[in-house]
Amino acid sequence: MSEKSPLDRLLARTDFKPFSGRHAFRVLELSRKKLMMPPVRDDDVLKAVSSLGLILETEVAMIVAIQETLCKRCGNCCSNRVHLRFRKEELKGVADYLHVEYKRLKDQLKATPMGDGTFIIAQPCSFLRNSLCSVYPVRPGTCRGYPSTDLLTSMGRGAPFDGCPIADDLLAEIVVKRALEEQMWRDHPEELKAMAEKRRVDLEKLASLPERERMKLLTKGYAKNLQSNTR
Ligand code: SF4
Ligand code: SF4
Repeated sequence: MSEKSPLDRLLARTDFKPFSGRHAFRVLELSRKKLMMPPVRDDDVLKAVSSLGLILETEVAMIVAIQETLCKRCGNCCSNRVHLRFRKEELKGVADYLHVEYKRLKDQLKATPMGDGTFIIAQPCSFLRNSLCSVYPVRPGTCRGYPSTDLLTSMGRGAPFDGCPIADDLLAEIVVKRALEEQMWRDHPEELKAMAEKRRVDLEKLASLPERERMKLLTKGYAKNLQSNTR
């Protein structure tokens, strides 16, 4: 067994900042419910919540993969987001999908060009039909990444995130993973070491790819695991 546990190593990193306050308390309560303690130790859960000040790339991919399953289809993110931003290619992709002319669609949406190849469109989003997205297969990256990306940005600014009802659930999933790994470090250190080594080798294979591409592949991997676990 190495000297420091996985959580202690994370907390000792120079780029670590503790996650605390009202938002952290909400996530703690939810994590406790998910873990149905015992056997997981409460001090591990507390530490795992505080450790959310630093979230790893593989964990971001994990929550992006889970969010689709947890989504409550409430449509809130299609009506109440501050900015709904499309890249030009994304808007063109939607136009092709709907078989309408790109310029016509842009005018219909009153898409405001931002001067950097992106457009802001008015809300509620015109593609929302009965709380469902009518262009789901070609929705823009800002929608594919939601709520994980907005949640992480808010946390980076130290602001609680209240825009989506599943956001706390996603953070609690990371807490559960970390608390269980901490327990495993005590009970089955060799297995945990083998898991960490496999993850390291997998990440090494992806290291040369651009961040966006790497994240796509990691997310795909988690989504595939999710599917096989629920079959
Ligand atoms: S706000 Fe969250 S739960 Fe509601 S539709 Fe959007 S992603 Fe799903
Ligand atoms: S494109 Fe779809 S997912 Fe994105 S805001 Fe519009 S309706 Fe919602």
